Amino acid sequence: MGLMDGKRGIIFGVANDKSIAWGIAQQLHAAGAEIAFTYLNEALEKRVRPLAESLGANVILPCDVASDDEIADVFKELERQWGTIDFVVHAVAFANREDLKNPFTQTSREGFALAMDISAYSLVAMTRCAVPLMSAGGSIVTMSYLGAMLAVPGYNVMGVAKAALESSVRYLAAELGERNIRVNAVSAGPIKTLAASGVGNFKEKLHIMEERSPLRRTVNQEEVGKASLYLLSDLSSGVTGEVHYVDGGFNISAG
Ligand code: NAD
Repeated sequence: MGLMDGKRGIIFGVANDKSIAWGIAQQLHAAGAEIAFTYLNEALEKRVRPLAESLGANVILPCDVASDDEIADVFKELERQWGTIDFVVHAVAFANREDLKNPFTQTSREGFALAMDISAYSLVAMTRCAVPLMSAGGSIVTMSYLGAMLAVPGYNVMGVAKAALESSVRYLAAELGERNIRVNAVSAGPIKTLAASGVGNFKEKLHIMEERSPLRRTVNQEEVGKASLYLLSDLSSGVTGEVHYVDGGFNISAG
C-alpha cells in the first residue's frame, strides 16, 4: 500500500527535470498518486509532456496563472475527468530579472505587481477553484523561501511576494480548516533550477548554505519532494497553516 494510493491531484510548476515540482511529482507517483500537470506555454509543453507521460499522466493542460480563466479551465477539466481531487501543488513564481538584480528601491510598480500576481495571488485563485472539487477534504502545498522572513541579498521583490504567499497560506488555512482542507508551505533552501538562475548571488547562497547550515550541505529536489509528500498525505492530517523548512536547518542557525 502506497501513502497516496487512490489519491488524485494536480501539480503546477514543472518546467523541466530540474524543477522542484518534478521532485515532488516523482515522490507522489512513487507513493501511488495519480497526477495531472500543467505547463506555462508551448515551448515548455515540449519538456513537460514527456516527463508527465513517464509517470503515466494523461491530464496535461496549459495554464498561465496570470489568467483567472485559464486557472478555472484547468479545474473544470479536472472536474469533468475526475469529479474530485485530493491535492494541489503550487510551485510557480516569477519576477522580472532586473528586479532581482537592481537595488530593491528601484523595483518598479509594474514589477512589484507582477511578482505578487504570479507568485502569491495565484495560490488564492487556484485554491478558490480547487475547493469545490475537494468535497472530502484535501491538501494544498506551495513553495516558499527564507527571503520571506529575512532580507536576503538579491531576493528583493520575490521576498516580498513570498511573505504575501506565506501569509496567504495562513489565511487560506484558517478559512478552509472546517472543510478539512489543509494549506501549507515548504520553505526550501537554494536549489539550482531555471527560476533560481534569475536570483542574484545564487551561487553564493549555495556556498553559504554548505558552510553554515547545521547539515553543512545544500538540499535537493528529492528532499523537498519527500517533505511535500508528508504535507500532501494523511501523515500530516493535523498540520495546516505551517511553513515547513527544508533547508538543512539554515533558518535556525547563526552559523
Ligand atoms: P522552475 O523554474 O523549475 O519552476 C518555476 C515554475 O514557475 C516554472 O514551471 C514556470 O513555468 C512557472 N511559471 C512562471 N510563471 C508562470 C505563469 N505565469 N503561469 C504558470 N506558471 C508559471 O524553478 P523552481 O526553483 O523549481 O521553482 C518552483 C518554486 O519553488 C517557486 O515558487 C520558487 O520560488 C520556489 N523555490 C525555489 C527555490 C530554489 O532555490 N530553486 C527555493 C525556494 C523556493
